[in-house]
Amino acid sequence: MLTVEEARARILARITPLDGEDVPLTAALGRILAADAVSGENLPAFANSAMDGYALRAADARGASEQAPVRLRLAGEVPAGRVYEGTVGPGEAVRILTGAPLPDGADTVLQQELTEVAGDGYGYVSLLAEAPAGNNVRHPGEDVRVGQLLVPKGAEVGPAEVALLAALGVHPVRVTRRPRVAILSTGDELAPLGETPGPGQIRESNGPYLVAAVTRAGGEPWPLGIARDRADELRAKLERAREADLVLTSGGVSVGDYDLVKQMLNEQGGIEFWRVRMRPGKPVAFGALGTTPILGLPGNPVSAAVTFELFGRPAIRTLLGASQVERPLVEVVLEGTDITRVDRRLFGRAWLDSGAGTLGARTTTGDQGSHIISSLRGATALLVIAEGEGVVRAGERVPALLLNDAMPWGQP
Ligand code: AMP
Ligand code: MG
Repeated sequence: MLTVEEARARILARITPLDGEDVPLTAALGRILAADAVSGENLPAFANSAMDGYALRAADARGASEQAPVRLRLAGEVPAGRVYEGTVGPGEAVRILTGAPLPDGADTVLQQELTEVAGDGYGYVSLLAEAPAGNNVRHPGEDVRVGQLLVPKGAEVGPAEVALLAALGVHPVRVTRRPRVAILSTGDELAPLGETPGPGQIRESNGPYLVAAVTRAGGEPWPLGIARDRADELRAKLERAREADLVLTSGGVSVGDYDLVKQMLNEQGGIEFWRVRMRPGKPVAFGALGTTPILGLPGNPVSAAVTFELFGRPAIRTLLGASQVERPLVEVVLEGTDITRVDRRLFGRAWLDSGAGTLGARTTTGDQGSHIISSLRGATALLVIAEGEGVVRAGERVPALLLNDAMPWGQP
């Protein structure tokens, strides 16, 4: 049986990133850059004032103080969005407002608070302090230089990236195409959302779960509904699914008589593996329908969710060309209930809490069985308990995968 790492490596080796497409920057949130975004401009583009005040020559302000103000002739005004037409000469100052271009001739700005304008406010300004060259001046390129890498290929666009790209005019922006992910639930017992289950039936939840999880991962879900446990029906649905970039099924990959997904993968010529040494989730099948990768997740809802996290999401992130494919792995301190090791890698759903400077985690309340859907609710981490014997006790450190996208994980 493969380890989780081996299984994941084999899945990812079969997946190549999709092509890029141009989207308006306003629609780029959450998308992955398909190419490096490089600046074609300086930011700021021109020298401008950081303050409301007076643009002048530093030499003219030399020696100015409250006791010995220096008086300059007020030659004009330049608000933001305008350009001062003239040149600031010796003995002159120009009223300048924040963001306005520094006029020719001036090399510094003295803020308004350190000046006094006598009488009707026009004619002269008195400087109450010196203004060294470059004072209150935002220099061209001090933020970003022409040719500088703004956001690397493979990075995800968040609000800060939107601001930076907008400031440099990178719009539209080239991002990878969203992978189309076919989602197929299998089982005679399943009643779809909106229908009342008949005798012996259950409400199906893996389909809706996967639609949500695929969307969160950056994919475009393509729900194909439910296939009954009949070879012809499954075959027909999988035939359609070939057009997807990735196919996710749930159920039918175990050892039961009606577990047809695995059978179908064998028939269609491409099963790579169907078991992984983990709990929950041992039966996970991976293969190909022609050239389309297909991941057969287990039917038990918790197993389906955990295997999606460990294999499905990385597959989608790889299709997206994301540089960060995996969830961040951190060390946490186990709180609450002890955990008994088993002969497979154990993934416990847990709540994180950060009290007293350490990141603690306790398993979500109640049973952690693979059919206990409520154990998924609110989980912000998956505890990774190595296979073996004995017990992991509260207070011990264990690795955990952070499920919360907002968790910090170092410099991008
Ligand atoms: P299977 O792997 O098909 O034998 O399914 C294992 C368990 O998961 C059974 O109890 C199924 O009823 C349940 N199951 C399978 N598919 C789903 C689904 N889409 N939603 C909820 N439970 C499911
Ligand atoms: Mg089944």
